[in-house]
Amino acid sequence: MFSNNPPLTPPLIREGDNRMAYVGRFAPSPTGPLHFGSLITAVASYCDAKAHQGRWLVRIEDTDIPRIYPGSEAHILRALDAFEFEPDSAIIFQKDRLELYEKVIQQLRQQGQVYACQCTRKMLGSNHIYQDTCRHLNLAFEHQAIRLKVEDVTICFDDRLQGRHCSELKKDLGDFVLKRRDGIINYQLAVVVDDYLQGMTHVVRGADLLDNTERQIYLGQLLGYPRLSYLHLPLAMNDQGQKLSKQNLAQALNLQQAPLLLKQALQALGQLPVDMDRPAHMLEQAVAQWDIARIPHTTQLQGHYV
Ligand code: GLU
Repeated sequence: MFSNNPPLTPPLIREGDNRMAYVGRFAPSPTGPLHFGSLITAVASYCDAKAHQGRWLVRIEDTDIPRIYPGSEAHILRALDAFEFEPDSAIIFQKDRLELYEKVIQQLRQQGQVYACQCTRKMLGSNHIYQDTCRHLNLAFEHQAIRLKVEDVTICFDDRLQGRHCSELKKDLGDFVLKRRDGIINYQLAVVVDDYLQGMTHVVRGADLLDNTERQIYLGQLLGYPRLSYLHLPLAMNDQGQKLSKQNLAQALNLQQAPLLLKQALQALGQLPVDMDRPAHMLEQAVAQWDIARIPHTTQLQGHYV
């Protein structure tokens, strides 16, 4: 049998078998300094991992170079120190892993699951769901966006806090971009590949990412990756009813006040109070008392934060 097809790109192999029952992570994007909302995610992901005798990793999601805010990466690293969080492995930076994401795009290309797309944001206008304009054009891949073909399927998952969540992929989400025209790797792709390669089993993150989860599950399925467990935390809102973010002028965490902020984050998560102490001891107590049943089962926290 002879074939002119190029050799297939082998799927990425993660190191070793994943025998850990629990590997979790905190994966901030350096688009601004850490704020109280990010602290809630860091604390919850850490306590949940440690309460399950798991490992907790930190990954800096810095593929979207134009959105990186100068100095915020350094602030994140200083904050991790100030709160005495100890990741169980060296921190990884996605900007150092672009080759891996390219390999996965190649794999999907060989599986016939992606296509090049020349539509600009302007051409798409207010259409949030892609209408497949380029799906059958067979455009060359160079200097174009790369989109994933989604099938007409429904993906559901049982969030540990938010309950069952489903999307009809084609109707609700449409074919989505994995790599932008400017070469930037999209968050959806990088997150799925790294969660797999880092042996992740559990994701604990903000409810603003709930609607991304079905896309990530679908992409993971196409790549043959195991499914993760998800817990989406309620978001801290400001007095305008907006989630805390740099765009909404959330205050950078004041690292001089780590113990107080830690206490407040645990309170926002509905946990039993911990004694004021050095952060490492407060975290230890928080892990011992950790109870997800006490976290408000909503997507937004009551009260206002800054
Ligand atoms: N990097 C994302 C963010 O900061 C979080 C990604 C994730 O937890 O999946 O919003």
